[in-house]
Amino acid sequence: MRKLKVGAYLEFTPVEKGYSPSAIMEDLESLGVSDLFLLTKDTKSWAYYPTEKMNARFGSEDFYGKLVREAKDRGIRVHAWFCLFQESLTDPSPVVKENPDIVVVNKYGKSAWEEPVWSYVDPKYSTLWICPSSKEYRKFLMELMEEVLTRYEVDGIHYDYVRYPEAIEGRYYCYCKRCLSKFKEEYGYELPSKDVIVLRYYVQILVENVTESVRELSELVHSYGGKTSAYVFTDYPTAIEAIYQDWVRFSRYLDFLLPTLYEVSPSFAERLIRNAVELTRKPIMPAVYANKVVRRAREGSRRWSTIRGVEYILRLVESVKRGGGEGIALFHYATLRGLTKYGLSEEDLEKLKHLSNL
Ligand SMILES: [Zn+2]
Repeated sequence: MRKLKVGAYLEFTPVEKGYSPSAIMEDLESLGVSDLFLLTKDTKSWAYYPTEKMNARFGSEDFYGKLVREAKDRGIRVHAWFCLFQESLTDPSPVVKENPDIVVVNKYGKSAWEEPVWSYVDPKYSTLWICPSSKEYRKFLMELMEEVLTRYEVDGIHYDYVRYPEAIEGRYYCYCKRCLSKFKEEYGYELPSKDVIVLRYYVQILVENVTESVRELSELVHSYGGKTSAYVFTDYPTAIEAIYQDWVRFSRYLDFLLPTLYEVSPSFAERLIRNAVELTRKPIMPAVYANKVVRRAREGSRRWSTIRGVEYILRLVESVKRGGGEGIALFHYATLRGLTKYGLSEEDLEKLKHLSNL
């Protein structure tokens, strides 16, 4: 029988809580993990390996290198996980300080410095979002990726947040000078309204900026023999409408894709996986919740589910098999291990062992 790949996302809570890299990897190995998505650059301007190019969370201490070695010794593939276009508002990376106009601008002409992304939802979510059109920022990302690919035995680079901010605040981004001037260059006149509902052609400009960034980053990663993968929005084509992320289009630059199946019901998951396989012809390894949080799902919904924990994961494994997926990626290790709120129990974890053989 075909063996499923089992992925796990790993951020540094376990390391900060004192777990040793070997203990973490031993645990992941016992869960049958074949692919590790290891946090490398987060949304708050931290790098998790020693670097001079941005703030390094652990200074010169190289927990990252130890984790990579421990994973490789156990035959686990490592994908360096990059949160691409997000930065800290209070202490962003040097490239952002030197080029303050690379951030997104909302339709009222306010940059993310003045009105941070998501600040209308709740100020604690406020973030500085960089426009994917920024060549300076893409260059910075490529320098980081190059550093990781040459210094560590990673198998590839994993893209997260490869998109614009969602339209929670109403069709909002991006009206930076690059996006506006690209529209003018391509169509010969200025955007007549800062509302893309009025002028749909602007959607294509923004979609191209995201796709172009994937192409550029992936050319670099592939030149080092690395694999590329991306964490993408659940539904297609909603991804285009909601966040200008045309993952079917940019899948040509990726080796595999991880659509998020958070809260999706097992039956709808099967449909989404089958669609993704048919549309991209690439390996599909959906990312699933390894926690017990219910955010949006309501009892009785056909497309979303309130089932959580081990039962949910096991049912999604069945959906992956029936839908033609390659595997399943658990988001994320700290919740899986119960190191954060809403985690799984020891008993749950026992049932998840050897997931790949199910
Ligand atoms: Zn822009």
